[in-house]
Amino acid sequence: MPLARLRGFALDLDGTVWAGERLLPGAADCVGALRAAGLPVVFLTNNSRDRAAALARRLTRLGIAARSRDVIAAVDLLGAAIRQRLGPARVLPLGARGLRAALAAADHTPVAPERWAEAQAVALGNDPTFDYRKLRAASRAVRAGALFFATNLDARMPTGPEGDFDPGCGALAEAIAVAGGVRPIVVGKPHGPMFEDALARLRCGAAKAAIVGDNPGTDIAGGRAAGLFTVRVAAGGAYEPDAAHEADLVVRDLRELLARWRDARGAGTS
Ligand SMILES: [Mg+2]
Repeated sequence: MPLARLRGFALDLDGTVWAGERLLPGAADCVGALRAAGLPVVFLTNNSRDRAAALARRLTRLGIAARSRDVIAAVDLLGAAIRQRLGPARVLPLGARGLRAALAAADHTPVAPERWAEAQAVALGNDPTFDYRKLRAASRAVRAGALFFATNLDARMPTGPEGDFDPGCGALAEAIAVAGGVRPIVVGKPHGPMFEDALARLRCGAAKAAIVGDNPGTDIAGGRAAGLFTVRVAAGGAYEPDAAHEADLVVRDLRELLARWRDARGAGTS
């Protein structure tokens, strides 16, 4: 049984572990049981607002004890990816406070939109104050040769139960990409950097690691590409097959995953 041989778990946050300010069913029990069995757990998010430390504090407050190193946040990866390519750089930041803080922590210097010509890189997260002035600055900068980085290409961010959403980072990235004629380097799921970081922290190799997430296009597609065992959380019985992004296992929530994992372990040892 594949579940029984897994040696590390990467868990998506939004829609898998939590929804807003509440943990989803089974989240605390599942993480607790995996840890009690000595299996490492890391949490992943494309969220471009918060750094790992803030997300770890929120997890802890909600009932899952976590430290910064247990969380991989897209904004932190962004700062590291720019540093890897350019060293400490002059960066035009488009995003919320967490993105700016992550860039500062990676020793980058912010460049204001009107000074776009000085930027060596454009760093895009979801930016609720995105406007024509920022679009002009970012597209001119990348057109002139600045490297273009984005946390993720998510089209929408769900904001409510009725299908309400805010436009995602991907929508802003496309505007810059079209005007600037340059595609972004993306650090978040389904792209490689976030999975590579997760595997480095789990220290178990892709074949023995699982990604657990609710988004077929990011969690499952990215996990498959990186060679992980993929578990899709499909709340509300949304089990319709999705041929392009079919997960190895589909569960309703982390409570069901925990039950299946326990069954698999029991079967393996009897
Ligand atoms: Mg999610």
